[in-house]
Order: sequence, then C-alpha cells, then structure tokens
Amino acid sequence: MSRPPGHDILFEPVRIGRFTAKNRFYQVPHCNGGGYRDPSAAAAMRAVKAEGGWGVIFTEQVEMHHTSEITPFIELRLWEEKDLPGLARMAAAMKTQGALAGIQLAYPAVNGPNLYTREVPMAVTGMPVRAFINDPVSARTMDREDIRDLRRWHVTAAERAARAGFDLICLYGAHGFGVLQHFFSRVTNHRDDEYGGSLENRGRFLRELVADIRDRLGDSAALTLRLSLEEMGGEGFSNAELRDFIEMHCDLPDLWDLAHGAWEDCSGPSRFAEEGAQEPLVAGIRALTPKPVVGVGRFTSPDAMARQVRTGVLDFIGCARPSIADPFLPLKVEEGRAEDIRECIGCNICISGDMTMSLSRCTQNPTFMEEWRKGWHPEIMNPKGPSERVLVVGAGPAGLEAARALGLRGYDVAMAEATRELGGRVARERLLPGLAAWGRVADYRVFQIGKLPNVEVYRESRLNAEEVLEFGFEHVCLATGSHWRRDGTARFHVRTIPLDPALPVLTPDDLMAGAPPPSGEVVIYDDDHYYMGGVLAELCAKAGARVTLVTPAPLISHWTVNTLEQGAIHRRLAALGVRLVTQRAVVAGRAGRVETECAVTEARAEMAADALLLVTAREPEDSLWRALKARRGDWAEAGIASIRVIGDAEAPAPIAWATYAGHRYARELDAADAGDKLPFRREIADLAADWEPRR
Ligand code: ADP
Ligand code: SF4
Repeated sequence: MSRPPGHDILFEPVRIGRFTAKNRFYQVPHCNGGGYRDPSAAAAMRAVKAEGGWGVIFTEQVEMHHTSEITPFIELRLWEEKDLPGLARMAAAMKTQGALAGIQLAYPAVNGPNLYTREVPMAVTGMPVRAFINDPVSARTMDREDIRDLRRWHVTAAERAARAGFDLICLYGAHGFGVLQHFFSRVTNHRDDEYGGSLENRGRFLRELVADIRDRLGDSAALTLRLSLEEMGGEGFSNAELRDFIEMHCDLPDLWDLAHGAWEDCSGPSRFAEEGAQEPLVAGIRALTPKPVVGVGRFTSPDAMARQVRTGVLDFIGCARPSIADPFLPLKVEEGRAEDIRECIGCNICISGDMTMSLSRCTQNPTFMEEWRKGWHPEIMNPKGPSERVLVVGAGPAGLEAARALGLRGYDVAMAEATRELGGRVARERLLPGLAAWGRVADYRVFQIGKLPNVEVYRESRLNAEEVLEFGFEHVCLATGSHWRRDGTARFHVRTIPLDPALPVLTPDDLMAGAPPPSGEVVIYDDDHYYMGGVLAELCAKAGARVTLVTPAPLISHWTVNTLEQGAIHRRLAALGVRLVTQRAVVAGRAGRVETECAVTEARAEMAADALLLVTAREPEDSLWRALKARRGDWAEAGIASIRVIGDAEAPAPIAWATYAGHRYARELDAADAGDKLPFRREIADLAADWEPRR
C-alpha cells in the first residue's frame, strides 16, 4: 500500500546540530513509572519505539545531580559513573533502527524536595518547595558559587550522557519543572543580581551553560532546549515574552522543543484539549529562529501532522502519548496504513503510572512497559498453541482485546455480544460530555477484528450457561462487564444506606441507557472518585438541573489528580454552577431531601434533593460465570477445557485494566501452567559487596 503523497513531508530528514533525524517523528521525553527502578523495562520500551520508526527518541527526565531529586516520583538518574551502564543500555536500544537517541537533563531545583538524598534543596530564589505534594520543605537561594557549581555539574552530566551514547542532550526548562525555566520566570526568579530582573539577565544562566557544555563537548552531542510556551498565573511569563526570549537567543540551542504550559496543559486530556491545542502558542516561532522547532499536541492524525509542517508551524511532530498508544505510528504512516494507528484516547492513564510510582499502563496499548517484563510486543503476538476454538462472551474493552489478540495468534474465535453495539462500557461512555475520543478503544479493535477472517462476531446474542455448554468451545472467555450499584455502597459505606423509595435514585447506567437527566435539585454522591461523578455533574448541569456534587474525599474527582485533570474538572464544574461539597457522605435519603455526614467529624446536615444519583461502586456482571461454575462437572463432556472470567466481570477497574486483561488472556492461552512462579521478569539492583556501616 502506498501512502498519500501529502504525508511524504513527514519523512524528510532534518538536521539537528551535526546529526540528521531520518524523519520528522520526534518522541519527546515522557515518564513511564519505571525510571531508575526498572531500567531494562524502560530500555526495552524505547527499543520498540525504534522499531516503530521514530526519528528521534528521548528518555524521560533524568535527575542530573544528587542535590536535586523529586522522590517519591521515579525518573532516571545520572549522579555518578555507576549510572552509565543503565543509560548506555537505553541509548543503544533507541539507536537500533537509526533513530537519534536523546537524554533530558533535569535539575528540579525548587520542585525537588530531596526526600531521598536529604540534601538541602537549592533554587534560583529560595522559597517553599513547589511539588505535587506540599512537602514542608524549603529551598535556599543559590549564590554565585552555587551557580558556578550548577554549571559544572551540568557539564559533567552532559559529558557522561555523550559517553553513554546519547546524540541529543535536552536541557529541561518546561512545565515549571526545570531550573532553566526557574531562571526565566519571575514566579521563581526574584533575584536582584545579574541573573534576575531583565529578560537578558534571566537568560544569562542558559547562555553560560550552553557555552560551557559546547566548550567541553564540541559538537559531539547536539543541544536541545525544552521550554514552556507560556506560564499561567499572575507573574508567569507570557507567550509574547517567550517569543522575545527565543528571538534573543535564536541560535543558542540546536533545536527548540516547545511544551505547552504546565504539565497539565501540555498533557491536556481529550476531555479538555483538542488535538493540536498548542498551535496558537507555537505558530510563528519558527520565523524567529534558524533552528528546527518541535511541538506537541496529542497528534494521531497524519493529515494534521503534515499540515503542521507544510504550514510552517513545526519542523518535528512531537509525540509522547501517541507514541505510547502506538509505538508503530511512524511506520504505519510510512507504509500507508494510517487506518491501523492505535490512536491515543487522551485519558492520561499513562501519567497515573508516574504519579502513583508504578509502571505506567496505557488504555490503548496493553503491552506498554511489558516489553521486557513479559516479552510482549505491540504488533506481534506469540504463536498459536495447540487448541483451536475460543468463545469470547462480551464485546467491551476486555472482550474486544481478547478477540483481536486471539485472532492474531490464529485461533478460531467467536465473540458473542448481548447488545447491537460493540464496545461495552466505551460504547456508552463515549456519548458522555468530553469522552467521545474514548470510543477509539472500540473503534480500533472493531476495525482490526473486521480484518481477521478467523474471528466471527455475533451481536444481539446474550448467552446463558446452557448455550455456552451446548456450543462446546474448547475455551470460553467471559468478559461480561459490570454495572453500577444502586445501594450507595463503595468505600465510605460498605453496607447499604437507607433510601426511601419516595426519593428517585439513579445510577450512571440509567443515564447511559437513555434515562433523561434528572431535573430540579440533583445530588450526585461520588464515592468512586474517578471521572464519572464529575462527568455526570456536567451532564446534569448542562441539562438545567441545580447540581450538588457530594464526595467524602478532600477533592472532587479525587483520583484524577493522577491523570492531571482534577483542576480542570473543578474549574469546569464551578463554571457550570455545580455546588461542590467535599469531605461529606450521603448517609440517607427520603422524599425531597438527603442527609449527609461530615467524613471527619460525623456532623450531620440535610440538603434538598429531588433526585439522588449514586456514583459509588460497580458490581461484576458475573451471573453467567457463577452459573457455569455451578456446572463445572458438565464442562468436560461439553468439550470445554477452560472457562475464565476477565476484566470488569472479574473485578471492576478503569478501561486500561480491561484491555490489559483481554490481552493477557490471549497471550497466555495454551501456555504451560506457571504454577506459583512470578508472572513477569523483575530487575533487582545488585547488592553492595560491603553492607557494613563505614565509620
Ligand atoms: P469490560 O470493561 O470488562 O470489557 P464492559 O462492561 O465494557 O466490560 O463490557 C461487557 C460487555 O459484555 C457488554 O457489552 C455486555 O453487553 C456484554 N455482555 C454481558 N453479559 C453478556 C452475555 N451473557 N452474553 C453476551 N454478552 C454479554
Ligand atoms: Fe493515550 Fe490514555 Fe494511552 Fe496515555 S494511557 S497514551 S492518554 S490512550
């Protein structure tokens, strides 16, 4: 298949310093929750991107000196020679298919509480440390000697990075997280010496630093500079000031890597930011500098990417999340297979891995960060085992992924879905405000399954135990999903709450099944804490109800702190006039009123309610599983070797857990029983030869 000629522009080589990127696909630095704890898992993940055709591949941020680190978050480290083998492995992995390997050097300064090293943090201007958690720690102001040290540390780190095999060294000054931005921004730079005040002074450290690194390294590595396009809030720098800064230093770095604003802006979820949302901030900057410019925008459409280049907005298409969801995106565009791209849905579950110090997951790509641990590849399945026929019941994210991956392995698969629509929960949730892009979870899989002659799909086929036994497939995979509870139980209440039938009570399922949003005074009780409570508050408020969102958590949609959405959700609901009540639980309901209780003091109060919408726990839809389990004695006679329940039907969780469960089922079918063995590879740091304290 040949690609549309309009996409050819994406495959032009572009120079960065003395290096040449083979195309314009630029994987910007992104976290993965692995970092220094799982270096081989992270290296293998980058190697898969190399295979997928990226022209430039970067690490996540690398803490370049032990005097500044962001524990508890897990990134890479370059503190001493000992760190080099791990980084060299990463650089080599990136370069396997001719990509340029990049490393991002970060000195977090005022963002680094140094909880691990216990060094006193230093910053451009001393102030309380600005981290996600408001650690009760302050940074001291750097004096001139500290600044000279900081330059020397950068040079040492850059020299080590070049020795580890990196072609590109990115100096991090974006998202508010890197010391270069702290010098540039009046929020963090209150100095009255030659490093503070005028724009020229605020750029001095950068100029000195680039000169020092170039002195030491010559052109053996190219230097890129990652900056934010603007900084929100009172004293933050504007896009206009950033443009002045770039013009003033137009040929200082070998490339300008322009991030949006804060990380929340740069990684804007699809609920709040469109593809290419950065364009108004970045357009025109290319004319200010002779050096290439890379920008991001959750780009998944090659037409949109080619337009960015053709219209002179960008030289490189920067991607983090799109490269996670589909590491083979460039190759698919190159081969004219754009319709096979597994498009990022903009849910930011990947970011939650970093925020929770666990290995990142991706809703769309279940193999992400399992490349090394489990040997999973995003495009290639393991060969088929001895069995032939598999029945998958339920076409939600788990069932669809199981059927797709089993089909790729070569099994004969029948997938039965109770309804007309394929997609399960995403078929319903994609219709809710802001969640349209989530439908891609189903779209990608339904399209791929359509290409597999060995996968048959049966719609409007709700199966019971009798039918499953009659069909006699060798293996049966039950992916029958879950439903929302109607009795108020979740975390705060572990038992049913008293609800008088005179008070109309709804669940998210009712609204998704087409019930009209309730009107009048609507109380939404959210003890789920992810997106659903906030999304339905938006739905009901837009439909004209007076909405009160009540949650026992200290923040509304509390868990979305991990997907960087919490602030945007709060702002949107406040703008819609939704009353936000935190640290309270609904404890009872009767006609026209609900009773609430303070989650801390237990003080009770009442509020008006014409309807109560319960966003609490989900319950597995496992009646089929229970019925089949009860007839285990009949399985062998029916020719059934195994029945497994997966996804929400096993234990409800976010969509990423369901696609993972579907993929895992498909990978492991016919595998030898691993018994009690650990189901993944694990990397453990070498023990020091000498454990005794040195005195
Ligand atoms: P998951 O997130 O685990 O994939 P979903 O709730 O999204 O779960 O999807 C489950 C799907 O299974 C739904 O589309 C539902 O209609 C379907 N389903 C449930 N029970 C049956 C059944 N007995 N036979 C066929 N399909 C079923
Ligand atoms: Fe995109 Fe969600 Fe995957 Fe992140 S987890 S790459 S946002 S689909």
